[in-house]
Amino acid sequence: MTDLQLYITEVFASVQGETSLTGLPTTFIRLASCNLRCSWCDTTYSFGRGTPASIEHLVLEAENNGCQFVCITGGEPLLQPYVHQLIDKLLHHGYVISLETGGSLPIHEVDSRVLIILDIKCPGSGMSHKNHWENLHIITKKDEIKFVLTNEEDYIYAKEICLKYNLFKKTPHILLSPVHGVLDPQILVGWILRDKLQVRLNLQVHKYIWTPTTQGV
Ligand code: SF4
Repeated sequence: MTDLQLYITEVFASVQGETSLTGLPTTFIRLASCNLRCSWCDTTYSFGRGTPASIEHLVLEAENNGCQFVCITGGEPLLQPYVHQLIDKLLHHGYVISLETGGSLPIHEVDSRVLIILDIKCPGSGMSHKNHWENLHIITKKDEIKFVLTNEEDYIYAKEICLKYNLFKKTPHILLSPVHGVLDPQILVGWILRDKLQVRLNLQVHKYIWTPTTQGV
């Protein structure tokens, strides 16, 4: 089991830049390749095939970093079937695992102890036709749903999806994330307060701590 391999873009320790775990020291395991092409993607460098790494090696890297939290991200981590074995192993070692997925693939096989950060793609991404809507029926209160917004059309879309799928009742963690340098966070806050939405403004704080294009942070 331990010599199973995954294809990796990068592994690094940083503070979590978004979600309810913002600011917490975290090991990031970025799996390679993605089936989507979001217009505003900030990790296009993950599209390639990546470098093979064994599960044993990845667990060792997490141990060396010494962070309690491990974030498995991409690319699209659910493209790689052995991601579930990696999760098993990390859970066995006592890590708190979050998994960031682009929302086009089913999440039902993900271990129920994992905190899933599920993207719903808005029209501005060019990928909204790829959303796997069944996922919204199986998320639980610990999971987080993220809408990345380019403009007010995306904001209205996000609001309508929340109402249509009753998401405000399913999770307290609905994240609205303005595309850095495209949608002014002040404008988004104005819309949220105007509409009294029970959502979390999700800024990517690593883009403020470092630069918006710094990798490995
Ligand atoms: S799903 Fe994520 S990695 Fe894939 S294209 Fe969209 S933003 Fe980029």
